Amino acid sequence: MNFIHKMKTIRVRFAPSPTGPLHIGGVRTALYNYLYARKNKGVFILRIEDTDQNRYVQGAEDYIIRSLQWCGLDFDEGPGREGHLGPYRQSERKALYRQYAEQLVQSGHAYYAFDTPEELEAMRQRLKTPENPSPQYDMKSRMGMTNSLTLRATEVDARIRAGEPYVIRIKIPEHFTLTFGDLIRGDVTFDSSVLDDKVLFKSDGMPTYHLANVVDDYLMQVTHVIRGEEWLPSTPLHVLLYQFLGWQQAMPQFAHLPLILRPDGHGKLSKRDGDRLGFPVYPLEWTDPVSGEKAAGFRELGFLPEAFVNMLALLGWNPGTDQEIFTMDELIRAFSLERVGKSGARFDFEKARWFNQQYLRKKSPAELAALVSPVLESNGIFREQSYVEQLCALLVDRITFPQDFLIEGRYFFFAPETYDEKTIRKRWKPESATIFERLIHTLNGLEDFSAATVESAVHQFMEANKLRPGEVLPLLRIMLTGVTHGPAVFAIAALLGKQETLERMKNALTKFARVLSNA
Ligand code: GLU
Repeated sequence: MNFIHKMKTIRVRFAPSPTGPLHIGGVRTALYNYLYARKNKGVFILRIEDTDQNRYVQGAEDYIIRSLQWCGLDFDEGPGREGHLGPYRQSERKALYRQYAEQLVQSGHAYYAFDTPEELEAMRQRLKTPENPSPQYDMKSRMGMTNSLTLRATEVDARIRAGEPYVIRIKIPEHFTLTFGDLIRGDVTFDSSVLDDKVLFKSDGMPTYHLANVVDDYLMQVTHVIRGEEWLPSTPLHVLLYQFLGWQQAMPQFAHLPLILRPDGHGKLSKRDGDRLGFPVYPLEWTDPVSGEKAAGFRELGFLPEAFVNMLALLGWNPGTDQEIFTMDELIRAFSLERVGKSGARFDFEKARWFNQQYLRKKSPAELAALVSPVLESNGIFREQSYVEQLCALLVDRITFPQDFLIEGRYFFFAPETYDEKTIRKRWKPESATIFERLIHTLNGLEDFSAATVESAVHQFMEANKLRPGEVLPLLRIMLTGVTHGPAVFAIAALLGKQETLERMKNALTKFARVLSNA
């Protein structure tokens, strides 16, 4: 490795098109670019590829930026963070691209094409065969079309001067195989006969994705193109453009990331799969600007950004160890493109939930309370911080999302309205009413109502009355919570406090009698 190469700053870019919400596959591409940049003390660029006016969707760019922010993927250069190689929105760079398309025409690597949509359709019909159902504009068909390869130069000039619409197409060389290195896939070889003469510059004065992408990667001094596998078939065209523009020396290295697959491993994960199987495929909730239709987001479902990022990092990359939980700093240290796999990574929503559970368990009671309080407040529940912190600590092992604290721990805010009748019927004995009246009396005598004091008082009570835990504790739990599961019943009683505990027990005695008389 020579000295110059070693000193070159790594520059990577995430280059989404603002055509809708960002799929989690896109977020993962951004994440891997970010990790690669941070690991190598490089620069992470956000470039908005908005040259296709027809596919532009209002609000999509803003959504992309908010998604990156939520994930903690801050870019060094991009819209609103202008570096010296901006602007970073392709529509604002419009004036820049034509000269490169013209340069390609001058050097014989591209040509003007005047074909109307009808002529293109006629060509497709004319050349259609069972073996080739969708003929393309390529080395086989180009000489039968209306372009600067088939028209005389004077006629081409006349048409252009008359304002006739035209596009500029690349001229793919014949009988040519092209090999380029991919950091994930190794050497990739394409035969030029499979490539078509793609449009580089459109009649509306805008470049197509291919030209703009290559020109901008060059001008923005991008060293590594890390993007989804769906762009692999376009890469030979991009490599040719680097050659034809005389930029081989500056050509970035390519790394094509594996697809994110459906949970069953069959095909690319789509929004439809998410809808069908009940999970989101977008980081944030998205509202379609036209139909108003909403699509679910991981954030709104209750995912913590750290958990979401950790889960995504492992969809395609592995650290080579058993470690699964990584902070962003640990990911930066551990990440390498060599450990990104070639084959698709299955999305597993259960695993995503597991990550969220792990991250919630790592939070302090105060941090949990900060997550849960907004959920409570939006349900009209206002409780003091220390109460919320304590119930969070009691419930955290049982929940996946912040809103589960309210679902799972509803009894911490409201006395039960219903009781687990099956268990009551099974456990209730004729003498139970007297037993619980005496227990109420015992508990009422306690000065201190901590979990430990309540626990020892209840145990002493059971011993003195020769009662087995099964005769007392399940019923006591149902009296306080209505249900048979939850954290230690003594901890629940302590947190509810003496007055509330005794009130619930008394109430339950009356209500149980009703349950039992209905039997
Ligand atoms: N604009 C392309 C996209 O939407 C970028 C592909 C690339 O990174 O080159 O994915």
